[in-house]
Amino acid sequence: MAIEDHKDVWIFAEQRHGELSKASFQLLGKGRELANTLGQRLCAVLLGENVDRLAQELIAHGADIVYTGDNPKLKNFQTDTYTHVISKLIGQYKPNIMLYGATHIGRDLAPRIAQRVWVGLTADCTGLTIDEETGNLLQTRPAFGGNLMATIKTPNHRPVMSTVRPGVMKALDADPSRTGEIIPIDADVPDDVMILRVVEIVKEAKHAVNLEDAEIIVSGGRGVGSPEGFKVVSDLADALNGVLGASRATVDLGWIDQTHQVGQTGKTVAPVLYIACGISGAIQHRAGMQGSDYIIAINKDPDAPIFGIAHFGIIGDLHEIVPKLTSELNKLKGPA
Ligand code: FAD
Repeated sequence: MAIEDHKDVWIFAEQRHGELSKASFQLLGKGRELANTLGQRLCAVLLGENVDRLAQELIAHGADIVYTGDNPKLKNFQTDTYTHVISKLIGQYKPNIMLYGATHIGRDLAPRIAQRVWVGLTADCTGLTIDEETGNLLQTRPAFGGNLMATIKTPNHRPVMSTVRPGVMKALDADPSRTGEIIPIDADVPDDVMILRVVEIVKEAKHAVNLEDAEIIVSGGRGVGSPEGFKVVSDLADALNGVLGASRATVDLGWIDQTHQVGQTGKTVAPVLYIACGISGAIQHRAGMQGSDYIIAINKDPDAPIFGIAHFGIIGDLHEIVPKLTSELNKLKGPA
């Protein structure tokens, strides 16, 4: 089949416990732009049980078509079952581009499907555009430890498949008046594909670190001074109902767990508010948080590079400033 016969931009819509991930909406935002440039449709693939309500949400956020695979066997993600159904669907409809979030699920699923449909995969993209001359997808991602950005194109195979870093692409606002088509697909899963049996699902601990979905993040850097120094930063995060982040320097020093790390080798985040306490603002840290709507930096060095991207800056000792902020916020909240 000729490359030109492959049409449409597809995204994998990831749901857990009946809720779509933020990454799915971000893929729709970027996918919409790519589909418009190519003059093709934007389609989402949604698997699960009773997913029609979620399909409407995907349409409101930019999808023209949602392929829904409704089957109790697909209720929870399993690599084998999802690979089976989506690979078959790709064979049937022949998309041009297929995007997945570079989430735990996307990183597991995308390579399996790539192998099954016999195409390559560009992992962890931070930029996607269309080469207007050739119509090829240009996939940009950090290479050589982040020291340069590589742009990869795939001229000879379809679909072009990429995983995309959560937090980098912007979701569109929901437009409930948007209309689209919901197409139920063959979601049959033969018993010999279903080789795993889920015995029990243990939900994440309440305080599991979910930086990617956080609206407010308060991060600490080497300026906190010690593992105990993180307490003032986490108190401020709690006062704001935010999530605690950290620079890599503090992770490397063993002051905090890696799950909190923001940056090129940590999480890419895009909260409404990011407060950087005692973080110098190295390029590798900024790469993970500069998409935040508002950045507040607290640093005792007026020349710290973080002030170059901060919307508001406070120059001074974080151990004096941060507890004052926390105490004022707690006063506003009143007694618990
Ligand atoms: P520092 O650079 O030491 O800065 C500490 C800051 O705290 C200073 O600006 C200082 O003025 C201020 N300070 C000190 N005391 C106080 C105080 N009492 N009150 C207020 N301010 C104070 N880094 C990341 O963060 N994330 C990544 O994902 C990441 N990936 C990397 C990948 C590669 C390949 C490489 C080479 C590096 C990576 N780094 C990453 C490391 C990065 O280059 C920096 O070393 C790191 O971000 C510095 O962390 P920091 O800002 O906490 O520490």
